[in-house]
Amino acid sequence: MTFKALLATQDGKTVSTRVVDMSEQDLMPGDVSIAVDYSTVNYKDALAISGRTDVIKTFPLIPGIDLAGTVEASSYPGIAVGDRVVVNSWGLSQTHHGGYAQRARVKGDWVVKLPEVFSTWDAMAIGTAGYTAMLSVLALEHGGITPDRGDIIVTGANGGVGSIAIALLSDLGYRVIASTGRLQESQYLRDLGAAEILDRKTLSEAGAPIARERWAGAVDSVGSRTLANLLAQTKYRGVVTACGLAQGLDLPASVLPFILRNVTLAGIDSVNAPQHVRVEAWSRLARDLDLAKLARTTQVIGLADVPAIVGRIFEGQVRGRTVVDVN
Ligand code: NDP
Repeated sequence: MTFKALLATQDGKTVSTRVVDMSEQDLMPGDVSIAVDYSTVNYKDALAISGRTDVIKTFPLIPGIDLAGTVEASSYPGIAVGDRVVVNSWGLSQTHHGGYAQRARVKGDWVVKLPEVFSTWDAMAIGTAGYTAMLSVLALEHGGITPDRGDIIVTGANGGVGSIAIALLSDLGYRVIASTGRLQESQYLRDLGAAEILDRKTLSEAGAPIARERWAGAVDSVGSRTLANLLAQTKYRGVVTACGLAQGLDLPASVLPFILRNVTLAGIDSVNAPQHVRVEAWSRLARDLDLAKLARTTQVIGLADVPAIVGRIFEGQVRGRTVVDVN
């Protein structure tokens, strides 16, 4: 049986993709076979397909770090035919065929069963970006940041991580400040739950190593000088989560926020997060995420449209989340 897939190949340093027909034999080893309904486009997918960084370690490979669908065959304990499942990251799009295909075969311990409330579309509207937003919320909670402690700032607000972090935090009772370079999208951000909008320019230039205390917590997907400024502006015993590098991978900060204000910098990694952490994140998403807000953040494209959206991601023109309908 053949199926459609977006296949990435490499010629010298150039990565290109095209939609091809593949067969079951082309899939890699694994103990769970999945009929894929949807995948998604995250920032890391854009990095992979553009070849800007060497996300893909072996060619030819089907990219796509996320997939959701229904199990067609399984020899893995606890995963049965007919289960609706989601796979986020692990080796997908790095060393193992990913989500931009109608079929997938993966390791059973990569698979998370979808909570009842979610359709496979919802799962990919959330995707790695939304699951990472939830990991960030969990890290704030773990650090003791409750809504009464003060404002939470979310950077990269119009992006996938940012949009879903705003929706989650505001519904959990936090007062959320959205930092964005797209002030024209302020109404969208307010509809997600932002109480105030901040121009990201105020955070993106070099600032003082320690500054006026403003935030009880921060969800940062931007890195670089923005993250340094967030640390400098965080209140005593506050928590700043760091998952991304949209501004840059440097961190030109000082130790003063840590040694004077007891600020915690919490790293967030979604790729190798252990299974119990993923299960907790997905069950909290099921409890805390407003599906109407999720739908407002999301657009749907087809497999063949994926390469075209990549450039728009780097230009900062894509708002919220993008679901890929692979069928
Ligand atoms: P998106 O492309 O959806 O969003 C990124 C957002 O960052 C943009 O929408 C924009 O928001 C903001 N931004 C872009 N360029 C700049 C810049 N030069 N300076 C400041 N802000 C900028 O990406 P995702 O939400 O999917 O991912 C965000 C980041 O998190 C990426 O770096 C990604 O690699 C990382 N990530 C890491 C994970 C992990 O496991 N650690 C998992 C998931 C994501 P606006 O227009 O509102 O300013």
